[in-house]
Amino acid sequence: MQFSDFGLDSKIMSTVEHLGFNEPTEIQQQAIPAAMTGHDLIASSKTGSGKTLAFIIPALQRLLKNRALSKRDPRVVILTPTRELAKQVFTQLRMFTTGSQFKAVLILGGENFNDQVKTLEKDPHFIVATPGRLADHLTQGHFYLSGLELLILDEADRMLDLGFAEQLAQINKAADHRKRQTLMFSATLDHAQVNDFALALLKKPKRIAIGSAHTEHKDITKRFYLCDNLTHKEKLLEHFIKNEDHQQMIIFTATRADTDRLSTMLTEQGLSTVALSGELNQGQRNQIMDGFSKGQQKILITTDLASRGLDLINVSHVINFDMPKHTEEFVHRIGRTGRAGSKGESISFVGPKDWLSFKNVEGFLQQKLNFTAVKGLKAKFKGLKPKKVIIENIVKDNTKSATVNKKQKTKKIVKNSFLAQDAGDLPVLKRKQAVAPQDIENTDINEID
Ligand code: ADP
Ligand code: MG
Repeated sequence: MQFSDFGLDSKIMSTVEHLGFNEPTEIQQQAIPAAMTGHDLIASSKTGSGKTLAFIIPALQRLLKNRALSKRDPRVVILTPTRELAKQVFTQLRMFTTGSQFKAVLILGGENFNDQVKTLEKDPHFIVATPGRLADHLTQGHFYLSGLELLILDEADRMLDLGFAEQLAQINKAADHRKRQTLMFSATLDHAQVNDFALALLKKPKRIAIGSAHTEHKDITKRFYLCDNLTHKEKLLEHFIKNEDHQQMIIFTATRADTDRLSTMLTEQGLSTVALSGELNQGQRNQIMDGFSKGQQKILITTDLASRGLDLINVSHVINFDMPKHTEEFVHRIGRTGRAGSKGESISFVGPKDWLSFKNVEGFLQQKLNFTAVKGLKAKFKGLKPKKVIIENIVKDNTKSATVNKKQKTKKIVKNSFLAQDAGDLPVLKRKQAVAPQDIENTDINEID
């Protein structure tokens, strides 16, 4: 199949040719024609498979072919969970809109509010935004959505995880034209929360799933290493940085504090490192991502702030220094490598604190994940056994008296609870920060985005 088979406007075709793409990817082959017929879509395919163009192309086609429903209101709104991803989507969109009659703008949290008000007054056709800030402008009446033709949610599930359901509902309610079309994209869309949300937002959506979130990504190698404690993880990290032949590497940690500590440690070792976290101001965040994408540093240390969507072609390795709190983020984190058909390596550290997350990932991927060890750096930790807990059941004992209730003790293996294999394997929890890492991990993406 060729892009020319879609019957696209010549302006779109010339940009596609300029990008040098020979043929549409599988998700593009299915989603572009489906979206062009006006269907709402819930579309999923693996990381790095070209989902961005699968929504940008039909959006442009619709604008070029149909008259606007309103002169004033934006025609397309694209929402993403993070500012970095919004910027990246905006850059791709601009490749198509530059030199055209269409104006595209970027509205992000952390940037000057009044400048954005002026930008919105210019009646842009496309808005790419993070949901919190866009909802703020909507509340204050800086723009209206009654003429919106297309609402696109990229990484929709992550926006829900981050607590943006209310803002999304507000945007949905304001975009009330009966001809509005809605498209949802992600590599992981098959969980119940997303389904309920999709039902409320989408009209008779067509589901397109190229593989499933559990399908093996054949271009990304997964290796897992057992670790005893933080020091052990640091030694393994040093080993891999030194011995793995890598272009660029992203290291994911559980918390901002871990990101900062590792960054200091690696910088002191003379390594070319940069750390991205949500507490930095937007200028700093932009500078870091621009520098890293230009190859100015070899290593980016971050949290799940950067797990979604970012397309950095020279990332050959992803290291999970800590396993993610949200199971599906594993798929997204390792998906920062092995993009658009290139090969990638992922290395994950599994210490006692990561065990539950590791087992969840194993369940999610529906495969037995094996451990590898580095000579001289083998862990004593062997994993945790499912915990046996005593559950007291009240059962009616009919044999003695019809009215006597009897306590019966039953042993039950409780899923997702683990005991150390032996006393020596008990978790060593000597983190420097006082806050439980998993509790602040999720707050790294600025909540007001
Ligand atoms: P996803 O959203 O599925 O993770 P992206 O949309 O970020 O993937 O695309 C991943 C990479 O693939 C990008 O660098 C993009 O430019 C490239 N790409 C997109 N479509 C094609 C295509 N048809 N052929 C080759 N490369 C493509
Ligand atoms: Mg994407």
